[in-house]
Amino acid sequence: MHKAKFQNRRIFSLMVVHFYILLHFSLWYGVGVKIWGKTAMMGVPSLLAGHINAAAIMVVLVILSVLLYGRAFCGWACHLRGAVEFSDWVMRKLNISGYQRIRKKNILFNTRFRWLFRSIVFFILLLPVILYWIRHEYSFYFNVQKPSPMSDLPGNNNLLFSVNSPFNMQLATHGMTILDFIIPFVAGIFIVFVMTFVFNYFYGQGAFCRILCPYTIMLVPFMNLNAWQKKITRISNCTGCRACSDNCPQGIDVSREIYHYDGKVINKECIKCYHCVDACSSQTLADSRKKAAPQTKPIHIYEKTPWQNSYKHLQVIEPFHPVLDVILIVIAIVCGSITSRLGGFWFYVGTIGGYIVFRRLISWLLTEEVHLQNRKIITKSQNQMGQKKTMVT
Ligand code: SF4
Ligand code: SF4
Ligand code: SF4
Repeated sequence: MHKAKFQNRRIFSLMVVHFYILLHFSLWYGVGVKIWGKTAMMGVPSLLAGHINAAAIMVVLVILSVLLYGRAFCGWACHLRGAVEFSDWVMRKLNISGYQRIRKKNILFNTRFRWLFRSIVFFILLLPVILYWIRHEYSFYFNVQKPSPMSDLPGNNNLLFSVNSPFNMQLATHGMTILDFIIPFVAGIFIVFVMTFVFNYFYGQGAFCRILCPYTIMLVPFMNLNAWQKKITRISNCTGCRACSDNCPQGIDVSREIYHYDGKVINKECIKCYHCVDACSSQTLADSRKKAAPQTKPIHIYEKTPWQNSYKHLQVIEPFHPVLDVILIVIAIVCGSITSRLGGFWFYVGTIGGYIVFRRLISWLLTEEVHLQNRKIITKSQNQMGQKKTMVT
């Protein structure tokens, strides 16, 4: 196990974000203090609808931060990353064998079409804004406290699901009770549970961030634009031990990246979690703007062996044919669209559930097909052997 110099600080930072959210919710719903606007995830729809509120300002600041620090927001301040890492920690502590196997070998399931997946999800995230544009005149206003009209988290409008949901439950009919707080809270926890525990369990640590998160669409275009952006950098000779690559939760082959790209990790999936830095016992890595130290000792394996995944430089397992991969994404999106009728974030529950179920189904069918073919080959060769024996006798 590598030492966790940065991990303690990072986990502390992610915990502080959650305490802030808790405080924010308590003040908003409990005391009616609304100085910080509505939730941050409403920032994108607000921004596009021309509403400059606290959430919209935060989104702009996060995007600008990418220019200087890369996706450090993801590694250090995203509330969902906190939940993703918490689920990873719990499953490791519980020693869940299936998860441990994926985790120890750093096997990460992924799809080569994750950008297609993320783009469609991003488009769906913006659908309410598009509908808002169609139904209302584009109205620009600046009010830090005024929330976006499109929030439909469990509990919004005193309803458990969205106003358009085919079934619903009215909350707080006789004033706020503890039950009116607990019911939407449990619904919210269930959504996050699917996004983190379930997705992690099937596809490895941080699966939501690697496969599905639509916010990457906004963050990634700002990666590597600015020469001043900090990147994971080689500051001394690398031995090629690969501890950094084996510990990267985003599946980046760090050791090869720094060998091939002038000592820098240029991969846009890097979230600045510093697991690679902590894992390197020879202190070869640092997050820096400076030029990398030269690699004076050649690492022959990197010159001979190609990338495991030549076009995105990730260590992932992609057992499916591309056509099946795309079909699977479409099925998952359809499942998500159905569950999104319950409210925006229920979209993820349906998408993730659909993706897992149909991927397993396809995987099972392919294995059956292979078994069938093998059986045919065996029967054919047994028949041929039988015929030969008859001819000899
Ligand atoms: S990829 Fe998405 S969910 Fe993951 S840390 Fe970044 S913004 Fe958060
Ligand atoms: S390259 Fe390093 S900092 Fe970036 S995601 Fe991987 S382990 Fe984290
Ligand atoms: S950067 Fe460090 S951990 Fe990674 S391969 Fe080189 S020496 Fe090993």
